[in-house]
Amino acid sequence: MRLQDLSAALLDLDASHRRRQRACLESPQGAEIVVDGEEYLSFASNDYLGLADHPSLVRALQQGADRWGAGSGASHLLTGHSQAHQQAEEALARFVGREAALLFGSGYAANLAVITSLVGRGDAVFADKLNHASLNDGCLLSRADFHRFRHNDLNQLEQLLAASGARTKLIAVDAVYSMDGDEAPLPELLALAERYDAWLYVDDAHGFGVLGQGRGALAEHDLSSERLVYMATLGKAAGLAGAFVAGGRLLIEWLVNRARTYIFSTAQPPALAAAVGVSLRLIEEAGDRRERLRLLAARCRARLDGTRYSGGASRTPIQPFIIGGDAHAMRLAQGLREQGYWVPAIRPPTVPENGARLRISLSAQHEVSQLDALLDCMLQLAES
Ligand SMILES: *Cc1c(COP(=O)(O)O)cnc(C)c1O
Repeated sequence: MRLQDLSAALLDLDASHRRRQRACLESPQGAEIVVDGEEYLSFASNDYLGLADHPSLVRALQQGADRWGAGSGASHLLTGHSQAHQQAEEALARFVGREAALLFGSGYAANLAVITSLVGRGDAVFADKLNHASLNDGCLLSRADFHRFRHNDLNQLEQLLAASGARTKLIAVDAVYSMDGDEAPLPELLALAERYDAWLYVDDAHGFGVLGQGRGALAEHDLSSERLVYMATLGKAAGLAGAFVAGGRLLIEWLVNRARTYIFSTAQPPALAAAVGVSLRLIEEAGDRRERLRLLAARCRARLDGTRYSGGASRTPIQPFIIGGDAHAMRLAQGLREQGYWVPAIRPPTVPENGARLRISLSAQHEVSQLDALLDCMLQLAES
């Protein structure tokens, strides 16, 4: 893209309703947010447990900064790896029941690094068609043969695995799909990974804190195996920022030596790592919040079931309201905004063509009555 082409390209995006714009929050994250001086009821964050502005977590960050300063000042392999990071990694590994864990600056960085550390030219990756963009980017960057299978289609995956002669194979999936809220069949995927001697890489960005009493998708299914590589982010339900990878000790040791976004990136502020322990305690104690989320999700699904907007079988905080056309989705999002609801319209290429939708993200901070009012308003606007 040349400089002189940018303006026309942006106008093209406008014309096709695909220009992205950022809302600038004037409040902390929460069920109620302020944008341009207006208050909105927000169904648009990944702060599923409502921890992003939790007083105990805020205090932990402040105390961490008092103890450790503001910046880490170096990458982990130089002098950026503090006791705060070390203890956070140990606590995270214990929390998800794995031998060891490694902190990353973001889930995106973790996905790039782990996949490229495990597979390369001549190897093969097998990825669900609805995987998050960061997993796809990791697969492309690895230069391994990149096979994408139809969403949750175990038969097609098995055919691809059986036909592959690659020395190292890696299956990569989202545990909870970020645009539909449905889940990967992890026990069956692990069985295939065992049968075909493959790694199973599980991106649990949306399950950590929510599923398995907060311990994530592997705990939900009681899964454990040396060939399982677990990644979860700390910026969603955990209320902080960053991510971690957990697995066997050998795997983590290999990543310390090979994971490029770990090696060539400044460590996160130690204060953030120092707050991880508090976040884990809050997640552990959030049984009531998870119960509220389940209730809200079931209510949302029941209300949309049988309508043409239903997105299927999500029991998670991600509830899609399928529209189809981009312009219609944008109009609906705008109409909701005028009524005081912030619900994002998700358009291609984030979702398939003709799959534009409003993505309702539930939070334990939402009241049942607030969800009911939102759904009333959405159905009414969508029909008008
Ligand atoms: C958000 C997300 C990521 C990226 O994590 P960040 O920490 O925000 O970079 C990766 N995978 C999935 C499925 C996600 O939803």
